[in-house]
Amino acid sequence: MKRLLVAALGLAIGAALFALVERPAAESRPKAGTATPLLEVPTPGRLGRRGAFRPSPAVRPPAVGAPALGTDPLFTAGGVHSPRDAAGDASIIRVNVIGDAVESLEVAVDGPWRIESPDRQQVLAEGRRLPLSTVTATAGGLNIGDRAFATSSVEIVPLAVSPAAAATGAEKRPAVVRVGSHEYRGRLRLHVRPGGKILAVNFVPLSEYLASVVDSEMPLGFPTAARKAQAIIARTYAVYQMHQAPREAAFDVFASSRSQRYLGWRYRDSNGRLLAGESSDSRRCVAETSGILAVWQGQPFAAYYSAVCGGRTCDGRRFFADAAGPTAASVECDWCREADLYRWRRTLPAKEVRDRINSTGGAESARLGPLRTVFTRSDGGPRVVFGDGRRERTLETHAVRELFTGALPSPHYTATLEDGDVVFSGRGHGHGVGFCQWGSRGLALAGADEREIVRYYYPGATLAVRKRTASR
Ligand SMILES: [Zn+2]
Repeated sequence: MKRLLVAALGLAIGAALFALVERPAAESRPKAGTATPLLEVPTPGRLGRRGAFRPSPAVRPPAVGAPALGTDPLFTAGGVHSPRDAAGDASIIRVNVIGDAVESLEVAVDGPWRIESPDRQQVLAEGRRLPLSTVTATAGGLNIGDRAFATSSVEIVPLAVSPAAAATGAEKRPAVVRVGSHEYRGRLRLHVRPGGKILAVNFVPLSEYLASVVDSEMPLGFPTAARKAQAIIARTYAVYQMHQAPREAAFDVFASSRSQRYLGWRYRDSNGRLLAGESSDSRRCVAETSGILAVWQGQPFAAYYSAVCGGRTCDGRRFFADAAGPTAASVECDWCREADLYRWRRTLPAKEVRDRINSTGGAESARLGPLRTVFTRSDGGPRVVFGDGRRERTLETHAVRELFTGALPSPHYTATLEDGDVVFSGRGHGHGVGFCQWGSRGLALAGADEREIVRYYYPGATLAVRKRTASR
């Protein structure tokens, strides 16, 4: 969740897309992960309850208790369509599954396929199965294996399996397209980019995308209410980005933490193990919150979130130009205190720290000698002051974190100099803005439902059902 977008909300899309179904209540991600081996039974959370969640009257919605979604009169009364109607979730999201464009990549389809022009008017090639094939740019277009296409983009369309195969029960799903070590539902558009590089974008229904995001972002062992809250927040973030991206853009979101993690339908890890990127549980979390997202001023917003806030969420305006309203709030949260990174301490050799700071540029005269003082100040934003006795360099805590990729779990820490080391004492994992994933686990174990969790972390937000969207 690092993507920083500045643009204003597309007004054209407007409030017409949303039916407000609730009155505004007065109001680091867990390395999930990650990886659910196929057919393996997940281990449930081993930690017990710790105190019941008692939302203040301001947080608790007027209707006490949360009826199951789909039977909730709020969602079905007055002609407002039912959340079972997945129209909103049927829209197509464009997911950049490789990040920065590459010189070449490998694709395959495990069943019948077609390659079409991007306007889908022309079938350029077709077959029963596409073996692993290398995609490269050419002077006039691109190659997929030994097939040449004289166009700067094509779409690989996996097809439904044949009726004969379906009848045997051997295959009941459509073919899936593979890119590198990940398999995706939906279609794959390949673009030739400037410099002869290739971009791969998965066009996939929002519901299928979200089913994978929930499992990619949050462990199966987390409570259902936390995972449903994750589904609502992931949908909110995705729909916001879909509104932000111009129609002519190549994609809406990245498949990584640059946006939110999306492992796809299946993938192989670095050891070659085949793992599920989604589960029946994640599909249920998406289906039972179908179409529901958080809105502020009638629109979905950039619902930034992180793994562990470490005690208090962070005002998102510190990191994101488009943080406002619910993401500009800071709320108490000790619900994440069972996370490993609720508190942490890291030690780096002072010389390494000094060298890294000196490598960031600045005049030769500003280069630091051996560090004599290191301290943190909070006036004007959290910053670290490094001094050698004659000169000082002051850096924001998140800038220091970026200098040491992976070493500091969050930008929320103090720094001191001890015995030739710089010691960082910090809290949380990730930027700490908005939804706290580990906190949602604590809240759910204490009895909060998914709506209470969403409103807890995004004060001022309300829940709405997305009715429709422009198709792509
Ligand atoms: Zn927290």
